[in-house]
Amino acid sequence: MNEFDNLVAIVTGGASGIGAAITRRLGAGGAQVAVFDLQPDAADPSHFAVNVADDASVRAGVAAVAERYGRIDIVINNAGIGAQGTIADNDDDEWARVLNINVIGIARVTRAALPYLRESPSAAIVNTSSIAATAGLPARALYTASKGAVLSLTRAMAADHLREGIRVNCVNPGTADTPWVSRLLDSAADPAAERAALNARQPHGRLVKADEVADAVAYLASPRSGSTTGTSIAVDGGMQDLRLRPE
Ligand code: NAD
Repeated sequence: MNEFDNLVAIVTGGASGIGAAITRRLGAGGAQVAVFDLQPDAADPSHFAVNVADDASVRAGVAAVAERYGRIDIVINNAGIGAQGTIADNDDDEWARVLNINVIGIARVTRAALPYLRESPSAAIVNTSSIAATAGLPARALYTASKGAVLSLTRAMAADHLREGIRVNCVNPGTADTPWVSRLLDSAADPAAERAALNARQPHGRLVKADEVADAVAYLASPRSGSTTGTSIAVDGGMQDLRLRPE
């Protein structure tokens, strides 16, 4: 018996990076996993073209999953986009665009899935926040505001839905080796130097692996974690809480 046998999960942003790793991990644990993504794999019937920034798209996606699988037990709100700069650098439209995906996207997907989660004996929601929510990183003002909101929203959701039997938690990854970070490195003047700087910023000296984040998400989503709600797990090589002396 696998821990996720007979359970149906939705993973937003599941076509790439951390979301793809979560999709593999939950699937390996026995879950049937539906991926919501802007760029789904058209050849994979478990992939649904869903834009979390669009309420009609989200509602149609959730209805399609419920129709196909008959239930929804787990929602992994992972889709997100980055934003660079200080508050001087992003205009109102960019603030609205990023918050709409990173924060309101979670509200949309969860709202649409709630009637199904309420029916589940093992309902769990896991949101993807970031080290940016708990540490002040330079030139990430808008992104940080969005991920701080995800961390706070996780607690509020956990309080609201505890008595309905729905647990809500989040993961806070440090800089992870995903296509997103590859794109960032590719746009740097000296990608090798930029990668070395990012590695050096991690107390454990390397980028986080997507599979390491996926294992933490699987722990939080698991029916075995029934006493864990309203909390966050940092998967960041110690960046949030450790202060090492230089070697
Ligand atoms: P990624 O770019 O590799 O994957 C993100 C996926 O989300 C893509 O497949 C993309 O198509 C999808 N997506 C984007 N906007 C969407 C939308 N509106 N609707 C549906 N799907 C959408 O990125 P990643 O590095 O795997 O990041 C995943 C999550 O992890 C994000 O929320 C990100 O903020 C968070 N995170 C990443 C890092 C990191 O260093 N990579 C660190 C901390 C947190």
